[in-house]
Amino acid sequence: MKFVSTRGQAPILGFDDVVLTGLASDGGLYVPESLPTISEGTLRQWQSLHYDELAIEVMWPFVEGSLTRETFEVMVKDAYSSFRHPAIAPLKQISPDTWLLELFHGPTLAFKDFALQLLGRLLDHFLEERGERGIVMGATSGDTGSAAIEGSRHSDHLDLVILHPYQRISEVQRRQMTTVLSDNVHNIALKGNFDDCQAIVKASFLDQTFVSPNRLLAVNSINLARIMAQTVYYIYSGLRLGALDRQIAYSVPSANFGDVFGGYIAKQMGFPIAHFTIATNANDALVRGLRGDLSRKSLEKTLSPSMDIVVSSNFERLLFDLHGRDGNKLSQVMNEFQSGAVKLEDPIIAKAKTLFSAHAVDDERTCETIARIYRDTGELIDPHTATGVDALQVTPNETIKVVLATAHPSKFAEAVEKAGFDEVPLPADMTDLFLREERYTIVENDLNDVQAFVRSVMR
Ligand SMILES: *Cc1c(COP(=O)(O)O)cnc(C)c1O
Repeated sequence: MKFVSTRGQAPILGFDDVVLTGLASDGGLYVPESLPTISEGTLRQWQSLHYDELAIEVMWPFVEGSLTRETFEVMVKDAYSSFRHPAIAPLKQISPDTWLLELFHGPTLAFKDFALQLLGRLLDHFLEERGERGIVMGATSGDTGSAAIEGSRHSDHLDLVILHPYQRISEVQRRQMTTVLSDNVHNIALKGNFDDCQAIVKASFLDQTFVSPNRLLAVNSINLARIMAQTVYYIYSGLRLGALDRQIAYSVPSANFGDVFGGYIAKQMGFPIAHFTIATNANDALVRGLRGDLSRKSLEKTLSPSMDIVVSSNFERLLFDLHGRDGNKLSQVMNEFQSGAVKLEDPIIAKAKTLFSAHAVDDERTCETIARIYRDTGELIDPHTATGVDALQVTPNETIKVVLATAHPSKFAEAVEKAGFDEVPLPADMTDLFLREERYTIVENDLNDVQAFVRSVMR
């Protein structure tokens, strides 16, 4: 498969180069040049596959040409072997027509593990093959960082520098990153918010001379491999719920639009998904985006911190398709957005609305939803998942509904306690998390300070 940039000016790349490149040189994001269509017959055959077997089938067209089939099979099986549930992505029914897709059984208790367990192995493999070293530089609103660290802590070919917003992530989230004392793991607590972290990472990728001759590697969802891995669980869950024979809608707690874009790719490959509901917290950039209003509001700190963002970077990938895959046109739109607000044209919005709806959920409603679902079903859900459940009110009625349960409730104690519950215990293998030694560096919200830190730790 070949990959093109959403802004039309960067070179067309193969999978290995896309994985190693992250952000395209023209400032755009890489997307598949074209996608294979999976036939209904093939999908029916896939209904009996285990998660890892299905993952190999779904992702193979993306990686073919960059890896041997055997290498890829070993990598995928290995990536999902650390999950705590044998189904990897189990479904749990919470009403006659609604299921939770539990994506939190990986090592760091959030859906990010699905992509980052694999991405860490891919990066390591491609670097080794080329005899190169790399520096993973990533911004995290809490969950990406720990998942990236878990996915790459044993790599000999890369160092990780992960920026999280100082005092704006949960203690479990922080400790999952800062208690990994591997030599190649470095945590920055940035005196700013998540978007400041993301802005510094983006600026660093656009001019990488400060780490030369090493290269920077992206683990944020600008990395196409993340999206690819997230496509799998839509198909996995959809097949189990009979998507070939009835209408299925997904409700996705969303921030950077990466998770839901994985579902969109599944749909583009011919997997029948009737509708996507985008759930946000008070940081409702995607709700406004779907109304055609691309603008920045100031950031609000909420009880669902992994969704606390101002600019939703992957929305650009959808906008590329909505603009007829015209990179020049999209470049203009994104340049305009860089300097202010943009109003999208009506036909573009109309097209988006045929497949997507969006709903913002405030903290009060989030807590009410956690309490209500517990009362009705005995399931304790995390605050991100709760936004997805509440957003079902804008999902078409006649569908089977799947809410992506993106994190385990023990990771977000504050919200769960506000909803009226005692603290939820961590899984057994993590009970000593609060006793482990931590290591991180507090850095000013300043590009030069961060880059100086990166240079000081790189090998
Ligand atoms: C990252 C994250 C999200 C948002 O996912 P996006 O891909 O950024 O839309 C939602 N919930 C949890 C728990 C997360 O970690």
